[in-house]
Amino acid sequence: ANHLCSLLARHAVLTPDHLFARRPDLAEISYGALFEGAERIASALVAHGLTPGDRVAVQVDKSIEAIELYIGTVLAGGIFLPLNTAYTAAELSYFLGDATPRIVICSPAREAEIAPLSPATCLTLGADGTGSLIDALPATGGFEAVPREADDLAAILYTSGTTGRSKGAMLSHANLASNSETLREYWRFTRDDVLIHALPIFHTHGLFVATNVALFSGASTVFLPKFDPDAILDAMPGATSMMGVPTFYTRLLDDPRLDRDRAANMRLFISGSAPMLVDTHEKWLDRTGHQVLERYGMTETNMSTSNPYDGERRMGTVGFPLPGVELRIMAEGKEVPQGEIGVIEVRGPNVFQGYWQMPEKTAEELKEDGWFITGDLAMQDAEGYVTIVGRDKDLIISGGFNIYPKEIESLIDDLPGVVESAVIGVPHPDFGEGVLAVIVAEGTPDPEPIRAALAEGLAKFKQPKELIFLDELPRNTMGKVQKKALRDQYSKQFT
Ligand code: ATP
Ligand code: MG
Repeated sequence: ANHLCSLLARHAVLTPDHLFARRPDLAEISYGALFEGAERIASALVAHGLTPGDRVAVQVDKSIEAIELYIGTVLAGGIFLPLNTAYTAAELSYFLGDATPRIVICSPAREAEIAPLSPATCLTLGADGTGSLIDALPATGGFEAVPREADDLAAILYTSGTTGRSKGAMLSHANLASNSETLREYWRFTRDDVLIHALPIFHTHGLFVATNVALFSGASTVFLPKFDPDAILDAMPGATSMMGVPTFYTRLLDDPRLDRDRAANMRLFISGSAPMLVDTHEKWLDRTGHQVLERYGMTETNMSTSNPYDGERRMGTVGFPLPGVELRIMAEGKEVPQGEIGVIEVRGPNVFQGYWQMPEKTAEELKEDGWFITGDLAMQDAEGYVTIVGRDKDLIISGGFNIYPKEIESLIDDLPGVVESAVIGVPHPDFGEGVLAVIVAEGTPDPEPIRAALAEGLAKFKQPKELIFLDELPRNTMGKVQKKALRDQYSKQFT
């Protein structure tokens, strides 16, 4: 059997006529049609020379055919390797060189640029579902899944590159299958659900959380090519659930059409990929009557923690370790006393198989006994709720003292007139690193009351030595604040 596909295909077998996707202005797609498409693509990939364990690198716009390509690759025993659509030829050249795929699939408009970057067979797939991949398809489905075991790789997913060069996380069939089953149960997804799917599918959030959870539960999706507030608000009265990054929620809150009536049919809003401000949580609850369920995960582990479905969802926390996932908080080789800050480590069936072609990095971060060092700093309270306070790479060491940016950011964010902030450390001749606060304010910023509040609320060594005002914080497509870019930009501020 094919470990992951036997689960992915469950509802195509049980209820082939059930809808997988509704698409504004486009045809609806049933589970049966989706899997027939996947089988035809699997046949075409094999005809193009794919053998088990080969990588299929994919940089295409979001479409139903792209989902069929994901399933088809896994059906054919291949390793699915999606790439951010924003990557330039120079970036792709690195990823293709690193991953050495057998087949590359790109958008027709970029074929001339991308085909020469690697010796792989290059096929195309456009946003409208046409291209040389589709031209080569057999007329019918009926592909027999290539057997794959639990430990065989199903995907290589590159990390977002927030802290440095992206690393290829090797994910096995069991890594993906176990996490999707856990999330389906934990978040109570069923065939009656209609999930608003507006996330990109080259990242774990849109692919292995949103798409897999829908497929595993037999749910329908409102399948949107990209984040589009109008389309989401149109879909909401007929939907039951949405998964999004915090920016989805802040952008939707900007629209006066969002209200309780419009959200009346919804049962669940989920957020992750980046921290959601407590302010956003509160505004969403106030406006829609629903409390966002925040969860935490990463490319290497899929999802590791989640706020509960029934119990108290605590704003500003990422909830509890998921069933089957062990979590501990470590400093200097030991578990920290409860309530203190340390680095999150996780262990469980969700944890990846290592970084592709990076044995040293794998050995540093994924220990022999199965614990993976996430690099995220957090604390856990007596009841078990985990609160993330930042990344260890963002920790500031100034004059020999550890400074956690989140503490300063929370203080600044609570001040009147402040929208959000990012606190970073940059080289400083006396202190090693100096603290810098980058602030987004409403209207004309006034630094004086902010400085006064910081002086009152923080020990001298934590107080930002300078405040910088920007119109917005630099973010990537997943809504992650790019602190590295800020550190680079202001690296000469104190020198
Ligand atoms: P790279 O590893 O290449 O530097 P990245 O860590 O941003 O990039 P991803 O795997 O996409 O790449 O993101 C995982 C990270 O996102 C987590 O390690 C964590 O820092 C952050 N994250 C995810 N969900 C949350 C959340 N709910 N709250 C706070 N941070 C979150
Ligand atoms: Mg990371």
